[in-house]
Amino acid sequence: MTYFPAFINVSDRTCLVVGGGGKALKKARLLINAGARLDIAAAFVSPDMTAELADLVAEGRVRYVDQATAAADLAPADLAHYELIIVATEERSHDEAYARAARQANRPVNVVDRPDLSTFITPAIVTRGDVVIGISTNGASPVLARLIRTRIESVLPARLGHLVAFCARFRRAVKAKLGAHARRAFWEQVIGGPVGAHILAGRNQAAHKQMLEALNRQTPPDTTGMVHIVGTGPGDPDLLTLRALHVMQQADVVLYDKLVGPGILDYVRRDADRIYVGKSRSNHFRTQTEINHLLLHHAKAGRRVVRLKGGDPYIFGRGGEEIDFLRDHHIATEVVPGVTAATGCAAAAKIPLTHRNVAQAVTFVTGHGENGEPDIDWRHLAQLDHTLVVYMGVARAGQISQQLMDHGMAASTPVAVVENGTLEQQKVIAGQLHELGALIAERQVNGPAVLIIGEVAAYANKDNVAELAELNDRRIA
Ligand code: SAH
Repeated sequence: MTYFPAFINVSDRTCLVVGGGGKALKKARLLINAGARLDIAAAFVSPDMTAELADLVAEGRVRYVDQATAAADLAPADLAHYELIIVATEERSHDEAYARAARQANRPVNVVDRPDLSTFITPAIVTRGDVVIGISTNGASPVLARLIRTRIESVLPARLGHLVAFCARFRRAVKAKLGAHARRAFWEQVIGGPVGAHILAGRNQAAHKQMLEALNRQTPPDTTGMVHIVGTGPGDPDLLTLRALHVMQQADVVLYDKLVGPGILDYVRRDADRIYVGKSRSNHFRTQTEINHLLLHHAKAGRRVVRLKGGDPYIFGRGGEEIDFLRDHHIATEVVPGVTAATGCAAAAKIPLTHRNVAQAVTFVTGHGENGEPDIDWRHLAQLDHTLVVYMGVARAGQISQQLMDHGMAASTPVAVVENGTLEQQKVIAGQLHELGALIAERQVNGPAVLIIGEVAAYANKDNVAELAELNDRRIA
């Protein structure tokens, strides 16, 4: 069986859905969204119409037709005026009777889940505004079609529909200003260049401004690139956001840190240039100023620049400094958030950062200051009912625990060290505050790690139900 792919205009034409259950409802929704006038025949086939369908009838958005008392009596003439007919009675004899009558009336008919009775089938669809993608497996495997749909869903930017709407809005103006040949180049530049990038990043005003300027000049929008500062999460690529993935797939050049591992870089567009700008604590490979200038240089050359940072760019990531610098140089930027190490590691080690009766607040703090020792109000951090997550604290873990104890935190306070959180090499070490420094030395923690300090750290590695229940009782008591 072979099907010809086509989109049918049903706007303001009358279509029929037969059936009153969930399947009929789904098709009814699609037809209404496409602007069809919809009749529904349901009474004798499905006395209990779904509430939503009944509401549509009550609101007058769907017309209820009581066209036959028994499917066997159905005359083809009853169906002749329908643009198309979808049958979902969920009962074999009714399905067959309607399919037969529709064929006799020469009307296109689809019987849900019965390609043998249908003259057309409906594809699995992905929609982004006016962009509609239909997926068919020739009726062979709707499950496979849905699987493909899920894949496509994840690679198409959410705002693709906005881009289509934007193009539609400017279509006439562009046509009036430019000849056929120039027009094509212009649109390619708009969609593939910074204007398109602005729209997909949700920066509508910037897109409009550039578009109007370009139209007035009658030349394509200028090609100054844009910088996307993207958080890639703690390491597991499955924790990338969809937006991060889309941006990485569009990159011309990627600048990445030490914390961005090969597993993440695999998702960058193959042809993009990759520049390592990693820093280590003592041996600065590139200074922040050098990185800023690299970003500027590539953006000015009209390239789409993606700056990858471990975790979230705005949490101990110096994302703010890069944004400030680029803003001063009039380069458009976008910031894509990422899962920060604290939340990623807490989830991976099953430690709730806040927990009823145990921790009412959580603080993320750095264990490493501009010139070594951070300037931290330890008394404030040593308070009870509070979780403390220390980033970059491994080297100073002993001093940190001492400071907290000196300011009143109990030596027995639970602590957990999560090293290489969310990665295959993840290590979770649990203990008490007084032994924090010793634990880190003994267990040779040298990868990136967070220190989680507070009552909740006792939950580390506790997957055992009985143990957890006991822990909960103890904490609440
Ligand atoms: N912007 C990043 C933090 C960068 S600072 C974020 O939001 O996560 C670097 C520190 O982050 C490391 O010293 C360590 O404390 C922490 N870190 C980053 N990735 C980690 C991981 N996979 N496991 C444990 N800690 C991690």
